[in-house]
Amino acid sequence: MKRIAVLTSGGDAQGMNAAVRAVVRCTLDKGLEAYAVYEGYQGMVDGGDRIRPIGWNDVGGVLQYGGTIIGSARCQAFRERPGRLQAARNLILAGIEGLVIIGGDGSLTGAHILQGEWTSLVAELLSAGEISPEQAAHHRSMSIVGLVGSIDNDMFGTDMTIGADTALHRIVDALDMIASTAASHQRSFVVEVMGRRCGYLALMSALASGADWVLIPEHPPEAGWEARMCQAMQRGRQEGRRDSIVVVAEGAQDREGRPISAGYVKQVLEEQLGEDTRVTVLGHVQRGGSPSAFDRNLSTLSGAAAVEEIITGNYHSEPCVIGIQGNKISSTPLSACIEKTQAVATAIAEKRFDQAIAMRGRSFVQAFKNVRTLMKAAPSPAAGEGKRLRIAVMNAGGPAPGMNPAVRALVRLAKDRGHQVLGISHGFKGLIGDDIHEMGWMDVAGWSERGGAELGANRTVPEGKDFYAIAQNLEKHQIEALVMIGGWAGYAAMIGMHQRRDTFGAFDIPMVCVPASINNNLPGAELCIGADTALNNIVGVVDKIKTSAVSSQRTFVVEVMGRYCGYLALMSALATGAERAYIHEEGVTLADLVADVAQLKEGFRRGKRLGLVIRNEMANEVYSTAFMNALFDEEGGDLFDVRQAILGHMQQGGNPSPFDRILATQMVSESIGYLEEQAIADEKVSACIGTIGGDLLFTPLEQLPRMYDERRGRPKSQWWMDLRAIGKVLAQPAPGNSHSETQPGA
Ligand code: ADP
Repeated sequence: MKRIAVLTSGGDAQGMNAAVRAVVRCTLDKGLEAYAVYEGYQGMVDGGDRIRPIGWNDVGGVLQYGGTIIGSARCQAFRERPGRLQAARNLILAGIEGLVIIGGDGSLTGAHILQGEWTSLVAELLSAGEISPEQAAHHRSMSIVGLVGSIDNDMFGTDMTIGADTALHRIVDALDMIASTAASHQRSFVVEVMGRRCGYLALMSALASGADWVLIPEHPPEAGWEARMCQAMQRGRQEGRRDSIVVVAEGAQDREGRPISAGYVKQVLEEQLGEDTRVTVLGHVQRGGSPSAFDRNLSTLSGAAAVEEIITGNYHSEPCVIGIQGNKISSTPLSACIEKTQAVATAIAEKRFDQAIAMRGRSFVQAFKNVRTLMKAAPSPAAGEGKRLRIAVMNAGGPAPGMNPAVRALVRLAKDRGHQVLGISHGFKGLIGDDIHEMGWMDVAGWSERGGAELGANRTVPEGKDFYAIAQNLEKHQIEALVMIGGWAGYAAMIGMHQRRDTFGAFDIPMVCVPASINNNLPGAELCIGADTALNNIVGVVDKIKTSAVSSQRTFVVEVMGRYCGYLALMSALATGAERAYIHEEGVTLADLVADVAQLKEGFRRGKRLGLVIRNEMANEVYSTAFMNALFDEEGGDLFDVRQAILGHMQQGGNPSPFDRILATQMVSESIGYLEEQAIADEKVSACIGTIGGDLLFTPLEQLPRMYDERRGRPKSQWWMDLRAIGKVLAQPAPGNSHSETQPGA
């Protein structure tokens, strides 16, 4: 294998550039030649200059841009065999042996067909004298790997497609903005979002934004839905809701397969409710703008894995799709992914809607159930079966964006099941001091988009006679279950209570810790609520810092939060193309700094315009941010100057990201079920919840101290540490074999 080409095809998606960058740089890093096929399959059919080498620096400075720098197109010719014959000829003439195709299900179906026909295409080219026998022998097979670039999240083989998370950011931002104007005028809005065959964007944006009604292709509403929707809207108004928002997926339809347009929904609301209703079609805004931190990192890791697959994989007969499944990069046969994707489309076309929605997977179904509960104007009158509980909820530790949507979800999902919910203000301080009150359905209206913690959070950890006061308050309010949404201070307090349950009978109740910390430093959870928002906050600012620096030969030392946990530093370095992340887990030595200075100098000598290093706030006590700044500045001499940026509390602020809102709802929803089970169990097991390997699991509180490095305040084992190597490969200066067309950059 000598030459690997990358192409982007079909609808563009934010994050494609990060994937192209990773494919190109990983290919070059392996000592191979990297090529790009420009303008998707059209470039493959056209050949010539459209298939050409691409260098290390050609993919510099592209992480923050939406779209695709190598162009995309829709190509009719490639749908027919003569077009694919031409494409095969051009690939062989350019000496391409491996191909990474980034596109949607259409593009990957095309890839599958190309692969299937390859042998016969080569034979035909040979007999027509278009290629030599040597070329035919050398290109007996073509290694193809696909990455799913599609904002719709409509393809199997990955939990998330490249671009879907960013599109959700665009939609949820728009819905947040529309909510404020709608509320001011008591107006109704119908918002149409993309998704012809997949309701993912509509469903998740409705869940994240607290919309009032949602229509998706997989679940066409039963006849008479118009009246039910209007009743729900009216009820909401009566309960004091000022804004009404209906989210409609492009592909929404009724049970007869007739499209439901945003215009029709508007007409219904106006006619039946007499509401002033506006339609907003978000359109291509959803494809635009800078990719989210998640999309950048997903693309980067998938691109790197694709090159690895091509070099080491054994799929000459079977192309695969690289995706993400439960935080891990995965590889699935392309044919299986296409088959399953088409099966959903067929189920919808054949009106097997229950099957269609079930095929989307458990979390999609759960999200659909949850969103329908959360958007109600009041809880269901009929309570669920079994023991009804008085559940208390609190936030503890530092504030994390996503705490409010978590409390909102708890109040509504629990009340809808017939439980009562009590809010504890100011964390354990409030529990000790009896700052406890009943929470009503409408008390949490508008909390989905709100950052911070409305209930108030602090780091109080009870000790000594505090436990006595807590026990008294639990008894006084007849609290039968407790949910703490927060960081380690909250975990420690809950563990403390649990350990004393023999002394205080009031503590022998089911309790759940829900991880919420921007630092992502809690045991039993791969991702904490708040970390995604903080990461996006950091990435947004670093992007701006980078643009300020390119004009002036400058290196920035950016300090980010995380305490002793390097998650934010490492992931933001990966997402921004920083040359280095200094994290406490790895430590910082003088030798490291000397080597890094040398590498920076060498880079600037060779034309680099911007240097960027990200330092975790506690990476090293002695080699502080100020120290690094001074060292780099002194050593940089005339080559570059240095500025430091300590990002501070902006990292904790702002509206929670869509992912954090969705994660908060999912975790809380599972926690309620867990409390119900434990409440009737003989031996009540209190636990924390967290995603582990893609599943939401409960870990008993007793196990947590063993999993946690108390002194450093982080889990003993951290899954993301494995990602360090790829960051280092991608951020190094261009190796000697790199061809380049443009200016160097990050
Ligand atoms: P997406 O990849 O975003 O789903 P399209 O469905 O428009 O977008 O596909 C992009 C391109 O992929 C098409 O223009 C065509 O060149 C190629 N393609 C799509 N479907 C097929 C197919 N069934 N056979 C061959 N090529 C296809």
